[in-house]
Amino acid sequence: MEPMTIREILTAVNGRILNDFTDLDLELGRVETDSRTIHEGSLFIPLSGERFDGHAYIASALEGGAAACFTQRERESYLPGKCYIKVEHTQRALRELAKYYKKKFEIPVVAVTGSVGKTTTKDMVAAVLGERYKVLKTEGNLNTDIGTCITLFRLTREHEIAVLEMGMNHPGEIEVMSAIAEPDVCLITNIGDSHIEHLGSRENILKAKCEIFSHAKPYCTAVLNGDDELLRTLADTLDGSRAGHILWVGGRPGLDYTADHLVSDGKSNLHCEVITPHMTCEVDIPALGSHMIYPTLMAAAAAERFGVSAEEFRRGVLHFAPTKMRMNILQREEDITILNDTYNANPQSMRAAVEVLSKSHGERKVAVLGDMFELGALAPALHAGIGSYLGKAGVDTLVAVGELAKNIYDAARDAMVPEVHYCATKEEALPVLAQVVKPHTTILVKASRGMAFEELVEYLKGLT
Ligand code: ATP
Ligand code: MG
Repeated sequence: MEPMTIREILTAVNGRILNDFTDLDLELGRVETDSRTIHEGSLFIPLSGERFDGHAYIASALEGGAAACFTQRERESYLPGKCYIKVEHTQRALRELAKYYKKKFEIPVVAVTGSVGKTTTKDMVAAVLGERYKVLKTEGNLNTDIGTCITLFRLTREHEIAVLEMGMNHPGEIEVMSAIAEPDVCLITNIGDSHIEHLGSRENILKAKCEIFSHAKPYCTAVLNGDDELLRTLADTLDGSRAGHILWVGGRPGLDYTADHLVSDGKSNLHCEVITPHMTCEVDIPALGSHMIYPTLMAAAAAERFGVSAEEFRRGVLHFAPTKMRMNILQREEDITILNDTYNANPQSMRAAVEVLSKSHGERKVAVLGDMFELGALAPALHAGIGSYLGKAGVDTLVAVGELAKNIYDAARDAMVPEVHYCATKEEALPVLAQVVKPHTTILVKASRGMAFEELVEYLKGLT
């Protein structure tokens, strides 16, 4: 972060100093929200959640080196030499400060939202733009409004473009992030069933994702998945009003950005031809699954929007590296391949992952699948849908783990998957895994984050 003076901060958040601190030219070098990892000379912003109140850590943050803090309340006592800034609401003040800070840098922002594939797309877009520009991108999955602020505070004069991931559980959340970042380019990957529990219907999910345009720059570019029925409906409602220009990407012929001649080596790479309004370019994508064309095509659209050449685009795609636990391919001896996709799961990504497994080169294909959360009343049917799909996909063995996964198991048995196992818990699954892992096998491991299936991957890695 570039230092900001107390004076600047007071103006940006409409704050007021509570104690006798007078050095308004003092520069603060960081903004932090965690008192346990505080640095010397930083601004500590206490945030409050349902179960905690960051105000309780103000003293320890200041004693730990912070030079100033925000606070919603007057204090009983003040540490000498420290600056206490009264704001109405600390989290809102954090957003206002991030927005102010971002405005100091005249750089374009690419914002990525959607139900599935945000992180993958963000990483692919950043990899491609990174061949020509110095890119700031959301680290890992920091896709909340607080994450957006923390990311933007990492901006320096060196950066030329920012690529931000925006996620949500509830309506209104993306609007907040759009207001902070004011994107120039908005990407929506797809509209699926994730978080349907909180949003009620896919139409509501679409509406919530479209909040990304609410504070976008006038005539911003929208990059949308043209194979997604719900996103297609934006062709009539969005063009010319909120987005200046829509670029459609997908497998359907006639879209602005499409892919052709997709070939997978079944082990670690996809090869395809990317066709854009300006070029045709052959690329090697270091990942598996035909769904990887979407992040690649979105990156092509972003690349052309910012004048990245075909050669730079090709190199950027090749340099893409998936974030941890997102379809990471681990090779073991005896031709055993583990597809570690344990980061998270929803029906769309589960299906895509099963497709990757079905097209893998392994002689035997084993799916170790667990519960998918936040699906509300649709959960049993959506789990059963995965079970039926396993039958069509030619998977040899299913190990279903968890309460909801019982629905996967039942449907897979009905769909004649040759070998099916059900385990109520991960502990029960261990001996079953030991039994099903044999040479020449590809094993997919996937479930929602709360299931912590990376523990099963660790166990599989240790089996000999
Ligand atoms: P989160 O909401 O947890 O942040 P996300 O939208 O960032 O998720 P990713 O982490 O990119 O999604 O991907 C999640 C999983 O979905 C990965 O296993 C990835 O391989 C798979 N995936 C990525 N893109 C697609 C797609 N277009 N269709 C289906 N699956 C996809
Ligand atoms: Mg993500």
